[in-house]
Amino acid sequence: NNVVLNVRNLKTHFHTSHGIVKAVDGIDFKVERGKTIGLVGESGCGKSVTSLSIMGLLPKSLARIADGEINFDGVDITKMNEKSLRKIRGNDISMIFQEPMTSLNPVFTIGQQLSEPLKQHTKLKKAEMKKRIIEMLTLVGIPRPESIYDEYPHQLSGGMRQRVMISLAMLCNPKLLIADEPTTALDVTIQAQILELIKEIRDKQNMSIILITHDLGVVAEMCDEVVIMYAGLIVEQADIRTIFDNPKHPYTQGLLNSRPGTSTSERKQNLASIPGSVPRPDELPKGCTFAPRCPFAMEKCLTAKPPLYNFDNQQSRCWLHEEEFKGKERELSYG
Ligand code: SF4
Ligand code: MG
Repeated sequence: NNVVLNVRNLKTHFHTSHGIVKAVDGIDFKVERGKTIGLVGESGCGKSVTSLSIMGLLPKSLARIADGEINFDGVDITKMNEKSLRKIRGNDISMIFQEPMTSLNPVFTIGQQLSEPLKQHTKLKKAEMKKRIIEMLTLVGIPRPESIYDEYPHQLSGGMRQRVMISLAMLCNPKLLIADEPTTALDVTIQAQILELIKEIRDKQNMSIILITHDLGVVAEMCDEVVIMYAGLIVEQADIRTIFDNPKHPYTQGLLNSRPGTSTSERKQNLASIPGSVPRPDELPKGCTFAPRCPFAMEKCLTAKPPLYNFDNQQSRCWLHEEEFKGKERELSYG
């Protein structure tokens, strides 16, 4: 089986004093071995909640998976207890975050922190662990790995810390890497190097990646497939070529139109240049959630939720496709 991760009808809900907030409200996607899938959308669309659901890292007192399955290597991890999850996390599935300073512990050396997953997931002896760590630091392009081993996070530059985070994520040869805005905090040159590095390791180890980003330049560089999320739902899904050459959903079109030429800072600003903002998940519009910002919104969009229309190798959740699908009701998926 070539599918590493199969997410089916995932619903992640938060219980707040204002009631239930549906942060992720029924999403379906697959990740194949060795492939990179981009999870794209503005802040608040449900990308990070999706990744925390997969990692089993949702805040327990607030959030719960209300429905659906997350099948990893054929096993539904939403049914696993914490002990079994811990065996997978940092081992078969690992994650790198945007800001390495918050995920590295300031009071432990790099060597001590990189030993943790090896202690937890392998039976390596101390000297073997150190050897493995030095190898991994070398692989991610860290100079003088032996001395970095004994240094503390604050002694490293941002780019070096991100390399350490990548080596931490890679130590146990994960089958799936979840990278949440892995290069956003870095300057353009370092960003390019880190992306190149992630690609190299992916190809060498035939690893799968879920790349969470709002940067379509990074998507173009890295991804095979793209999932566009808006307000807790998938609004469009297709292979990378199709997304850039023939985007069907007005939100995707908006994201692409707002994409400028070259500089990263421009790119970040421009995503916000679709007029308006993502609705709060506790104040979702009644019909299509994108309607308040959509240049094509029709009467119907304000009252009825559009289904996800299945084209060949492409899906789009928009009433504009209704005409094309008349009499082909079976090709819709509701939810
Ligand atoms: Fe725009 Fe209507 Fe399509 Fe929503 S369903 S994206 S409002 S045209
Ligand atoms: Mg996020």
